[in-house]
Amino acid sequence: MGFTAAQWESAIADWPVMHRYKGHERNALRNMAFRFLVRKKIISGGAFQFTDAMCLKIATMACVPILHLGLDWYDHWKTVILYEGDFIPNRPYRSDDGVVHSKGPGLSGEAWLRGPVILSWKTICETSTKNPHGKANNVVIHEFAHKLDMLRDGANGAPPMHPDMSSGEWHDVFTAAWNRLQKDKKHHHSLPLIDYALTSPAEFFAVCSETFFEIPEVMKDKMPEVFRLLCQFYRQQPLLKS
Ligand SMILES: [Zn+2]
Repeated sequence: MGFTAAQWESAIADWPVMHRYKGHERNALRNMAFRFLVRKKIISGGAFQFTDAMCLKIATMACVPILHLGLDWYDHWKTVILYEGDFIPNRPYRSDDGVVHSKGPGLSGEAWLRGPVILSWKTICETSTKNPHGKANNVVIHEFAHKLDMLRDGANGAPPMHPDMSSGEWHDVFTAAWNRLQKDKKHHHSLPLIDYALTSPAEFFAVCSETFFEIPEVMKDKMPEVFRLLCQFYRQQPLLKS
């Protein structure tokens, strides 16, 4: 397959996050998205007839988190399964074998340890807008954040640390933020991210990642320490570039 820059621009035009990536960085993101589509296989779940534009958009959303990490961070698995809507897996909702489920009653996304990422196109389309409570929502970033998390000791909320990072600090900062949000939730205070974040440390990291890329101003304001560590991990400063 060969895509043009114009095809790519048109496919990602309605995703507000893209305004942040300009010049050299935008070119790098486009090239990475093209390489993503060469290395990965997007296949249809059910009989969904998806388009090239959909593939380009998914690849771009998947590559935003790893833009300054490298495509190798998605090695060791190959397939993205794309459904038209939510899908229902024929197995128990949550097991301890590395399967991580996404939010919602029907599943809108899922990432398997060393297996495929499964996505619902309907949910991806809801992604560009904040949900009614002004919270971030990006199922692609969510599921691919699980993939990064799984690179170290399974999905536990802690991806591999860079040499200049401390896993002890990561643990302390995320635990403190988690405890504070649990307390806020108990007192019915509004949270800066969806409640689903408080399901498990893995979901917490995935939802924090969605918030970091979609509405960084909220994350920096409400969770400055988590924001700082996510800047270090993703090697990006989403606010400076806005
Ligand atoms: Zn999840």
